[in-house]
Amino acid sequence: MSLENKNNYITQRNLITGGAGFLGSHLIDKLMNLNQQVICLDNYFTGEKSNIQKWIKHPNFELIRHDVTEPIQLEVDKIWHLACPASPIHYQQNPIKTSKTSFLGTYNMLGLARRVNAKFLLASTSEIYGDPKVNPQSEDYYGNVNPVGIRSCYDEGKRISETLCSDYKRIHNLDVRIIRIFNTYGPRMKPTDGRVISNFIYQALSNKPITINGNGNQTRSFCYVEDLIEGMIKLMNSDINTPVNIGNPNQIKIIDLAKKIRQKINPNLELKFNPMPEDDPFQRQPNIQKAKEKLGWFPKTSFEEGLEMTIDWFIDLINK
Ligand code: NAD
Ligand code: UDP
Repeated sequence: MSLENKNNYITQRNLITGGAGFLGSHLIDKLMNLNQQVICLDNYFTGEKSNIQKWIKHPNFELIRHDVTEPIQLEVDKIWHLACPASPIHYQQNPIKTSKTSFLGTYNMLGLARRVNAKFLLASTSEIYGDPKVNPQSEDYYGNVNPVGIRSCYDEGKRISETLCSDYKRIHNLDVRIIRIFNTYGPRMKPTDGRVISNFIYQALSNKPITINGNGNQTRSFCYVEDLIEGMIKLMNSDINTPVNIGNPNQIKIIDLAKKIRQKINPNLELKFNPMPEDDPFQRQPNIQKAKEKLGWFPKTSFEEGLEMTIDWFIDLINK
């Protein structure tokens, strides 16, 4: 059932799995500010209650501790399925659990969506392209993924999640969305989660050497979290049942990223070169033509602005 609220915006019941995490909590902020009803479901593997603390007593907000590998019955209109560790050190900590979260978690949430006829959005990833042989990557590229490596639990996990969504669409006519998220950064990244931007900023602010894996010639393309969330909401509100890349095509080498962050925080810091982790992709850059044409979406925050806001947030965190 949907109700009109005072701003004439249709109020819907939204389930956000992984809502206490980095992206999930930003999505919740946005939906709460749109006067939506929100149920945040999380097992707190990598999420933090502090990320959603400010909503806890709000009448539109509910919090459920639950693991998506177990089924659950709820009445909702939209499911935003984000529950899954995203950082390599987290998803490699218990890779079998990561595969279970990807397969069983997505299966359970799709089952719920089917029972209550909810719209379903899967947070997929650029990792489904693996170590891509083409650059930039567009949605019709099938990828180059090692099925038996240390990143496979996540890469293959997200690929089977996409398969499940596509079959629920084909077989049960479920209204699915698949967002392929490219590296995203911003406030609320964990200082210890090992992702490159949080690592570099935290290292620089703590006067520690900046750790570069390999020679740093590998590339990534970083999207500011607010832009990403806007793209996610636009996709959910569209009628596109096929995967859509959402990311910022602004590609940068990891070595240049290290130098940029060092320059902003502490130009005298040492750069420390570590061995390259197994299967670390050499290049990654989204082709966002589809998002531009079909959603009218493109990232608006420049890397300079986004980095400044992220560094400021880390400074506040450290000084707390
Ligand atoms: P995150 O680790 O901050 O958040 C994931 C959340 O899911 C956490 O709150 C965690 O506790 C929860 N969770 C994990 N396993 C669960 C389970 N079995 N049951 C219930 N909750 C569980 O990661 P994030 O960066 O916010 O990523 C969110 C989603 O976006 C993930 O699905 C990730 O694969 C996808 N994604 C993120 C990025 C990125 O750059 N951040 C890029 C591509 C895809
Ligand atoms: N990386 C690095 N130093 C670090 C953390 C990461 O050089 O301290 C590299 C990592 O090997 C990869 C890139 O930065 O090449 C992006 O890593 P991240 O884990 O942030 O994202 P992903 O590899 O999942 O895209």
